[in-house]
Amino acid sequence: MLTCKFCGKRASTILTDTFYPVCKECFMEHFEKKVIRTIREYKMFDYNDRIAVAYSGGKDSTVLLHLLHKIEENFPKSELFVITIDEGIKGYRDDALKVARENVKELGLEHHIFSFKELYGATLDEIVEISKGRKNSLKPCSYCGILRRYAINVAARELGATKVATGHNLDDEAQSFLINLLRKDIRRIGHLYPFKDVKSELFVKRVKPLRKVSERDIVLYAYFKDLKFHEVTCPYASYSVRNFVRKFINEVSQVIPNVRQNLLKSLDYFSRKVYEEESDKEIKLCKVCKEPTSGEICKRCEVLIDLGLIDKNKLESNDEG
Ligand code: SF4
Ligand code: ZN
Ligand code: ZN
Repeated sequence: MLTCKFCGKRASTILTDTFYPVCKECFMEHFEKKVIRTIREYKMFDYNDRIAVAYSGGKDSTVLLHLLHKIEENFPKSELFVITIDEGIKGYRDDALKVARENVKELGLEHHIFSFKELYGATLDEIVEISKGRKNSLKPCSYCGILRRYAINVAARELGATKVATGHNLDDEAQSFLINLLRKDIRRIGHLYPFKDVKSELFVKRVKPLRKVSERDIVLYAYFKDLKFHEVTCPYASYSVRNFVRKFINEVSQVIPNVRQNLLKSLDYFSRKVYEEESDKEIKLCKVCKEPTSGEICKRCEVLIDLGLIDKNKLESNDEG
């Protein structure tokens, strides 16, 4: 019988970083301590923050929400509330929303739900249909990411959040870094810098408390804690570049077991260099929506104009005014 490295009880699993056998209780303690250390290391929160958790109902954000709720009990001056974006993905998001509502209710938190349909006039499913055959059409995940990021920032700001916490984990961070390298998208590597400051007061600072814990450990923690989360994969996930990169990293991890941690360390090193080089870049206001952007028109408005969901004339009338 394999015994726990820390308490001698029967081991239930192994730790991903050290490969020590551990029991369920020691695994959970190790997991929670690791997240708390990450929060401290990157100075993610202030004692009096009003934190918006970007919550989808999936495993990562469910673990994040429950863990922040537990940690936050020691900080009476801070507040936690929840933002959920309903992208409008038939047969997927509806079930996730149900789980999300139940978890938020159980914790007694304020819950704000916004939909693409009410914000942009179309669901993601409709956007994917509209984009078919268009010259500049993007992958579903690109539309989803751009429009969701914008929606979360505006919602968080208007609801008085001082931070937005997202459920990105170690695997997500390693994948994002590699995707940006493969695309030679150097600027976006700078966006991943974990100490990044907001360059405009219209941006709410984003933090990723789970960035050092692996997807595998998150699933295990959720099962050990008996958390309810939405387990179905999004129907658009298989079209994404991320899906290929995920498989690639999983394969490489057979020969380089610490490949995710190595990628994260490389990401922290290189993203800082890029961030420092880019830090003097001016932030303007988008000509259409007046939200902060580095170009003339923000990415959200660019895609909405392209899809015919924003009237091009609005751009000209804003110019005149
Ligand atoms: Fe959006 Fe892609 Fe995630 Fe589906 S997999 S929710 S389309 S980002
Ligand atoms: Zn133990
Ligand atoms: Zn805009």
